[in-house]
Amino acid sequence: MPANPAYPPHSAPRLFVDEMLSDGMELRLDGSQVHYLANVMRAKAGDKLVLFDDRSGEYLGEVTQAAKRAVTVMLTGKLRERETVPDLWLCAAPIKRARFDWMAEKACELGVRRFVPVLTQRTVVDKIKPDRLRAHMIEAAEQCERSSLPELDNLAKLADLLAKWPEGRHLFFADERIHASGEGSFRKALVAHDGPAAILIGPEGGFSAEENAMVRAHPSAVPVSLGPRILRADTAAIAAISLWMAGRGDWN
Ligand code: SAM
Repeated sequence: MPANPAYPPHSAPRLFVDEMLSDGMELRLDGSQVHYLANVMRAKAGDKLVLFDDRSGEYLGEVTQAAKRAVTVMLTGKLRERETVPDLWLCAAPIKRARFDWMAEKACELGVRRFVPVLTQRTVVDKIKPDRLRAHMIEAAEQCERSSLPELDNLAKLADLLAKWPEGRHLFFADERIHASGEGSFRKALVAHDGPAAILIGPEGGFSAEENAMVRAHPSAVPVSLGPRILRADTAAIAAISLWMAGRGDWN
């Protein structure tokens, strides 16, 4: 069956598979995907689904066998190549777990290419659970029809991140102490700074004065305001990504 805009149906389950896929291959799903397909979706032979691998692209599949503990799927056509999302990273200090999970999920939905957890002086949560964050981003990608997953970095100290910062990547530093109408105008910053970018968001307690000075002294830093109200870190991340996506990303 050829892939066209009306096919597969939007209700077809869409799943990430962590192995290289190719048209015509048969694969056996296991674990939580079997539970989801067999028990939640009550999949049966002949049902359609969409699979992507974050490597080669997205495929149409058909269930060939569905049992309680194993589901086999035949790939019957390539729907599209792996997409290239806009070159935006989100660098954010970990916050309370559920809120950080939410931030990772939304960053994926909004189109961020890389998620970089950053350890700062006032970071209260000094550990992250990469598997859990990745699971949230996978679920978001499945739901929002992304065919590439955001990269997830290890937790890095702010100073180390800045020391290794790649030349040519603008660092939009969300600073709640500057004015949106003046120095901190995000709109003006977007006009003046084209190209690869990252957004830097602090923890619940914000950046220390020392960190603020260190970031500002970095040649790639572009301090930006997100308005006159102090936003929660997760809100700030989503607002900044949205502004960048609308001005420089793929929302046009
Ligand atoms: N501790 C700070 C305070 O009490 O003033 C608030 C920190 S805020 C909860 C967490 C992070 O969100 C900040 O470090 C900053 O990166 C970002 N943020 C929040 N509101 C912002 C705004 N209006 N403009 C720019 N960044 C903002």
